Amino acid sequence: MVSDRADIESMMITLLQRDARMSLTDLSERLGVTRVTASKVLRSLLEKGRIRRFTVITDMDEGDMVLLRTRDPESVPDSCVVERLDLLGEESLVLIRPECLRELSGQGHLAIEYVKKRYVYSFSPVRGVKCDYCGKFIDGKPIEVEFMGRTLYACCTNCERDLRRRVEGVEVR
Ligand SMILES: [Zn+2]
Repeated sequence: MVSDRADIESMMITLLQRDARMSLTDLSERLGVTRVTASKVLRSLLEKGRIRRFTVITDMDEGDMVLLRTRDPESVPDSCVVERLDLLGEESLVLIRPECLRELSGQGHLAIEYVKKRYVYSFSPVRGVKCDYCGKFIDGKPIEVEFMGRTLYACCTNCERDLRRRVEGVEVR
């Protein structure tokens, strides 16, 4: 059972190290928190630069892939399937290669759409955190500086001192 925010953050980083494509639902279950909390933690890790989001874009000419809405996904040959989503209820969405359109047999195919682009997201932990003063990557445990509800990181006590001076200067003005 993880309790405080820092524990949840480091647990999430560990989980993402094992599987960068773990879903929010899986993350929240493993952490024992709600999906809303998990998504807040994920966003804050992204903002702090402790994890990065990778977008894999498959740029395709029009008609390179086809999205099929069907009640009979099993009838689509495995070799044609790029991705399949079973929806609540009876229907499925199946991303297929267009050359397979001719091979579609079976009943219950409801609609097809031509796909232009496909985006695949995954999250991956960044090795270390960046020092908010000098910008260097920090190996090991960073020194944390709290500022207006945000956590900033310093690589060493010199940077910590200068960072505090800088943020406190901002606060005063
Ligand atoms: Zn530094």
